[in-house]
Amino acid sequence: MKQSISDNKNKIMLSNMQSDKRNDGNYVETVRGPMRMSKLGTTLTHEYLICDFSNLYVPPFYVNSYDFTASSLKNLGYVRQYPYSYLENLRLNDVEGITAVFKEVDLFKRSYGGTIVDKSSCLNRNISVLKSLSDTTDVNIIIGTGYNIPDAPNLLSTKTTEEMYNDIQDEMENGCKTERSVKPAFIAEGGDIILDFEIRALRAMALYQGQFRCPVSFHPGKYVIPLTEIMRIYQEAGGRATELVIAHIDRSIGTENIMEFIEKNQCYIQFDQFGVDTPFYQLNPRTDIMSDTQKIQLIAMMKAEGKLHRVLMSHDIHTKHRMVTFGGLGYVHISHNVTPLMLKRDFTLDDIYLIRNENPYRWLNRLNL
Ligand SMILES: [Zn+2]
Repeated sequence: MKQSISDNKNKIMLSNMQSDKRNDGNYVETVRGPMRMSKLGTTLTHEYLICDFSNLYVPPFYVNSYDFTASSLKNLGYVRQYPYSYLENLRLNDVEGITAVFKEVDLFKRSYGGTIVDKSSCLNRNISVLKSLSDTTDVNIIIGTGYNIPDAPNLLSTKTTEEMYNDIQDEMENGCKTERSVKPAFIAEGGDIILDFEIRALRAMALYQGQFRCPVSFHPGKYVIPLTEIMRIYQEAGGRATELVIAHIDRSIGTENIMEFIEKNQCYIQFDQFGVDTPFYQLNPRTDIMSDTQKIQLIAMMKAEGKLHRVLMSHDIHTKHRMVTFGGLGYVHISHNVTPLMLKRDFTLDDIYLIRNENPYRWLNRLNL
């Protein structure tokens, strides 16, 4: 361990007092440097822009060929049903994937999109490509620190809570390890909270968050785990629920009463799998993914209970088949297809603005404590 946690806290608080506009809270860190919060615009809070999820590959049951380089619909149904059985589908960092991401982030911009939060962990961020993507499209890109736990069991299995805390502190204060000129704007951890190192990572995030009140995000793993248990570990380690996003709520609600959970904790509830084509979750057949209309119904219930200020929406795109280029719906699905439907149901334009602009602003803005 480099230093004790309380030494770090004193040092960081002093440097915050002496430092520049980065810490006044009206700025948020992006891959192009600190940016005024007011420029955030419509924000997607959970995507993976340049990524490789081939570690999630599952050998196919039936059909194993799909030509991602051709505009062919042959076998598209199978790709949608078994997205993790096509290696090429899991790579958004090859030539075809990167080309599609550039094109479709531009499409998001032209659909009045402002910002995308890239959820890749510190182990697989592609900062130089993300900078170029942001420069080319003029979409703000925000990255986080922390470990996307399922990606890194070997690396993390021996790290102590304090070592993980030091990693987080280092990147939050000094910039990303691989590119010091870029700072992360939030911390993300996750997993199934079954293994010791997953719990240590959650505690490290909570410890830093409780001291510095930064935005944080918890990413459930493949299983439905009790959200109350995650919250208990997080809060006991010092984390504040009001700055915490619970991601993937679309497939993470077990038997818990979600309204009571939000009422008690006042955390953000993120519906981030809009546009997923099938309710069948290939990586855990015991889990169902809510349809878009089921999500909208639940968000309407949250509105009726006065909890809309705690809702975030995104797509969780991390495979080719979700991109428009390859037969999917892309980063514009919520803008083009979901919000028009919401406006015909229980929602007003103000509600949409609250969810897509004001809630991300409040989550990312360290002045709104
Ligand atoms: Zn995710």
